[in-house]
Formats: sequence, structure tokens, C-alpha cells
Amino acid sequence: MKILLATSEAVPFAKTGGLADVSGTLPQEIARLGHEIVVVLPAYRQTREAGIPIHDTGISFEVPVAGKLVAGRFLKSSLPDSDVPVYLVENSDYFGREELYGEDTDYADNCERFVFFCRAIFELLDHLDLRIDVLHANDWQTALALAYLKTDYAGLPLYEKAVSLLTVHNIAYQGQFWHWDMLLTGLDWKYFNWQQMEFFGKLNLLKTGLVFADAINTVSPRYAEEIQREPLGCGLEGVLQHRRDVLSGIINGVDYRVWNPALDPNLPAQFDAEHPQPGKSTCKQELQRELGLRTDPDVPLVGFVGRLVEQKGVDLIAGVMREWLPTQSVQWAILGTGDPRYHEILAELARRHPGRAAVRLEFSNSLAHRIEAGADIFAMPSQFEPCGLNQLYSLKYGTVPVVRATGGLADTITNFDDRTQANRTANGFAFREFSRLALAETLQRACDCYRQPDVWRQIMETGMRQDWSWGQSARKYVALYERTIQRCRESAWA
Ligand code: ADP
Repeated sequence: MKILLATSEAVPFAKTGGLADVSGTLPQEIARLGHEIVVVLPAYRQTREAGIPIHDTGISFEVPVAGKLVAGRFLKSSLPDSDVPVYLVENSDYFGREELYGEDTDYADNCERFVFFCRAIFELLDHLDLRIDVLHANDWQTALALAYLKTDYAGLPLYEKAVSLLTVHNIAYQGQFWHWDMLLTGLDWKYFNWQQMEFFGKLNLLKTGLVFADAINTVSPRYAEEIQREPLGCGLEGVLQHRRDVLSGIINGVDYRVWNPALDPNLPAQFDAEHPQPGKSTCKQELQRELGLRTDPDVPLVGFVGRLVEQKGVDLIAGVMREWLPTQSVQWAILGTGDPRYHEILAELARRHPGRAAVRLEFSNSLAHRIEAGADIFAMPSQFEPCGLNQLYSLKYGTVPVVRATGGLADTITNFDDRTQANRTANGFAFREFSRLALAETLQRACDCYRQPDVWRQIMETGMRQDWSWGQSARKYVALYERTIQRCRESAWA
């Protein structure tokens, strides 16, 4: 198969979130399975400054945006340690900025920037004379390309056999703009109706993609179910119910070249499932020392790494910390940045309880690795979680996840109980209700098990032996591409 993966970010070229990890890793695995895949993303300022070899293809183009012609150029690179080509769409007015999508607030011309990018995708295919089988778009930034495929480019020989897939990484971000931005797209106003591009009077680019895509997937099967209902559908539950026959979920993978305690250069000691000790204990001791926590091998150490936003259940964590810190012999290692309100609450808890609570309000990849390795328990009480990566890293690092059973957390963490203990499938602890009480009760269960070394070892080892690598997920993507091609072919014949 020939596939074009269109994305607004991909490691190591540009990253704000999990989308970049998927776009940077999945194509390499798909290529490894013998398929031809090309990646296209904008050439941002951070892309140009990333120190990656990039060369000019000499191909320039012009596309219509709001009736005027806008010029761009294609640069070329490849995904690291691979032959997967990466084309970068250059236009310095649109993409030569400090950030990807906005500074403090979204850039006012985001609709225009991504209309330009979506049009450029077709220029690229045209210049490369690439007859793709699959156009794979991701999130709202590239969703409009799927509408172009079905309208402006429908029937052209180059795109005749192309089917399309839209992957939704987080439905809370939809690319909504005022209705006049319809003019930027160049598409006929007839598409501006509640069944296609309009959403309560506004232009909604994610909805547009959901309507025009041949197939839709999200980053976990449970999230694919959840977004068909309120509140997690964020208003698009009706569209998704309507399209449920072509909607599925595929869990993201982990890059075990980067997240592997046996190879991790960020750790003071290495370890693996066969020999978790003494490496794991050394990592805990060194983490306690690094963060100014009391060095005690027996006290349970709870870790959290992530964006400090409501979605991640930071209120619940802070609530349990406030309740437990004065009396309970449990330690906390928190790393994150986000809402200033949470910065204040967490910093205050750390100030009041030195030795038991450590809070680092920064972005530190290496400390994230050391918390994954040095903690005993990893807390993820998320309100919603499309996939979640940290719980998968935790499993590999022998740090037992305590999660709220939502989205990808529900699909990857098997709660410890009598049955799952007996059949040795438990790899963590899960609770349903989004409340401080439910988190406290579940953390308490985890801490009780922690004090029974045989039980704890079994839970840890079950998680450490699991395989959440990209290889498996890539095979599922390939199967989804093939299913979609087959279904579209059959309906064309019907
Ligand atoms: P989301 O995509 O919603 O932010 P995920 O769990 O899917 O959540 O992925 C978050 C990624 O970002 C993980 O790799 C996590 O380690 C990393 N991360 C988040 N905040 C920080 C931070 N402050 N320092 C280091 N890494 C962080």
C-alpha cells in the first residue's frame, strides 16, 4: 500500500503533545511492515531549529486561500534511523512563528494556516505523482483535506483509488471558527449545513473530517465508545453515533527504544522484568535523594507526571495529598506544568511537608524517566484519557498504575481483585467514580498490597512483561487501511 500521513506535528520535527509521538513513530513501523508511507507536516520555526538535516526540494507551489493565490515550498527530510520521507510545507508567514498553534491564545489565523496546509497536501501528491491508497489525516488541523478529497479532487485519476482515515487524538480540540472562514476553505456554501461542516453556526473542521472520512479511529477502543455519548463526545456525539459503523479504536504504542528501564541512560541503575532488583530499589533511593524526600525503602512512593490541567484529575491528587500528608507514611513525587492554580496548591503542599512531598513545576524529560523508574505507584485519576502514555511507561518500569477506568486507561489497566490475582492478569488498580474518595480508597488498596511483597511483585511483573510496543498497533492500522479499501471498493461496485 501507498499511504500519506498528514499531521500538524511529529517528533523530532515539532511537538506539543501525544500526536507528535504517534506521527513520528507509527510511520516507521508501517514501513517496517513493507508499505510505502510518506509523512507531511508544516515547516515550523522549531522544525527548522531542531538540528535535523533538511534540504530544499526546489519544488514551489501556489494554492488558493480565500480566493487569492498563496505560495509555498516543499522541504524534505526523513524520520530518524529510517527511510520514511518527511515533506515539510514551508511558508514563513504562516509557520515561521514562535509556537505551533498560538502564544497565550490561539493564533487568530489558524483556520487560514491549516486551509493552506491541507491544500498543499494535494500539491505534494501532484508533484510526486504519488497515487496513494490511503490518505491518513490526524485531528482538526488536517481533517479538511478529507473534504477536499471528496469534493475538489474527486474523480481526478491521481486520487481515484485513495480512501481516507481520520484519527482523533483528543476530541476536545475541534478547530472551530466563525462562519466567514468558510470563504477561506474555497468550498461551496452548500456544505455549510448541520450535517456537514457547520456546528451551531460555526465552521467546525473536526466535524468536517468526521463527515467526509471513509473511516474514523481514535487512540483506544474505550474512547471510541465514550465519545459517542455526552459529555465526552464534546458535542460531536451525534455525528459519531451516525458514523459508528466506521469508527474504531487502536491503542497507541510505546517506543521501547526510549522508554525501557534496561537501556535508559537517565537512570542511576538499569533493570528489567527478569531482574527488577537491585536496579529498581536503587532508582527509588536516588529519586528520594534527588527530590529531598526521606530515604526510606519501605515507604510507598506515589508518582505523577503530566500536564497540570483539570482533565488529569489534579484536584483529586491534591485532595488526597492534603488529607494524607499530615498522618500517612506515603511519599509523593509530582512533575508537571499547567494551570497556575495547581502550581500554587501543589507548591504549598510541598512547602508544608518537606520530606514527604516533592513538587517540580517544570518540563523535564529526564526527571520524568526517573520518576517512572523510582516510584512504586503511578497515579492517573483522569476525567478522560483518549489513550494515555504514562501508564504504559509505568508498566514497563515496574511502577504500578492507579487509574480511573476511562478511555485508554480502562483498556490497558486490569484492576487487582481476587479473580485477576488468581489468573495473574492484574497489572494495576482502577476505580470508576471521578472523586477524591474513590482515588483515596484505591490508593489505599494499592498501598496495602505494596506491604505484601509477594502480591506486589506479581502485579509489577505482570505489567513489566506486557508488550505495548508500536509493532502491534501498526499491524492494527494496516488492517484498518485494508478493511477500509475493501469496504470502499465493495460499495463502489454495489
Ligand atoms: P497528554 O497527551 O494528554 O499530555 P499522555 O500521557 O498521553 O498525556 O502523554 C504525555 C507525555 O508528556 C508523556 O510522555 C509525559 O511523560 C510527558 N510529559 C508531560 N508533562 C511533562 C513534564 N512536565 N515533564 C516531562 N514530561 C512530561
